[in-house]
Amino acid sequence: MTNRAWTVIGILRESARYLEGKGVDSARRSAELLLGKALGLGRIELYLQQDRPVTEIELAEFRELVKRRAHREPLQYILGRVEFCGLDINVAPGVLVPRPETEELALLAEKELRELAPDRIRILDIGTGTGCLAVFLAARLENARVDAVDIDPVACACSVSNAERHRATDRVQVIQADLFSDGFLAMVTPPYDALVSNPPYVTADEHDRLMPEVRDYEARHALVAERNGLAFYDRLAELVPTLLKPGGRFFVEIGRGQDQAISSILNGVTPDHVILADTAGIPRMIRGVTREEIPIC
Ligand code: GLN
Repeated sequence: MTNRAWTVIGILRESARYLEGKGVDSARRSAELLLGKALGLGRIELYLQQDRPVTEIELAEFRELVKRRAHREPLQYILGRVEFCGLDINVAPGVLVPRPETEELALLAEKELRELAPDRIRILDIGTGTGCLAVFLAARLENARVDAVDIDPVACACSVSNAERHRATDRVQVIQADLFSDGFLAMVTPPYDALVSNPPYVTADEHDRLMPEVRDYEARHALVAERNGLAFYDRLAELVPTLLKPGGRFFVEIGRGQDQAISSILNGVTPDHVILADTAGIPRMIRGVTREEIPIC
């Protein structure tokens, strides 16, 4: 950009064109949100003040943000936030950006757990990341207590910040633990009433082909899983009978094309499960119930 007097609208036009040239998706939206951040204005306010002159200092700050986006850093990392089911969630580099598919999982779990209407419900969230699922469920279900587990200290710090932000620290406990370690069961307090999880499920090959925002910036360990993306489901199937009470519910996100394989992994342990598609029609969620205890007569 040259050094003439810039207005809001002029900057938006120019920076959107620049970002588009760099292959950025929804370039105009990126430009609006980044300029909004630099000026401390919402999107509507930007347009209401479209002829407002922009100072050199503001412009310099905005240029830094645009440069990061042009390098294909995720918009959410630059903004430091993302909306998840109507909640404003903090997100930082190193922590998986919550996706719209996971909002669908959150809404499904909320609806079904609300219908059960228990007095008190204990939920385990495995691989909590930003804590979006845990904080959302704690915020929406008054009688819920959530243990939110992640292996990564950066993710744990982020989920604590989100629990604080949404005044849920008394109902969300963040635990740093490795699902695959021998001591895992001793780090949490089973049996729970419900389990939610958006585990890593991308294969190493798929990871190489993901868009630069995801491949180059998001934590690989939050995305990629061994055994062709299925390792977490193997481990969950092994632990679910211990982690959940008989008749306990689980809601787990899955990757495209994994439904049959995951269904057969679960069949041995908990045959009472169904696969549900997301709004794009892709099988995306597994909802299941663990076996009830068989009465001995
Ligand atoms: N849906 C995410 C993606 O495709 C993957 C999230 C995950 O591995 N749980 O980038």
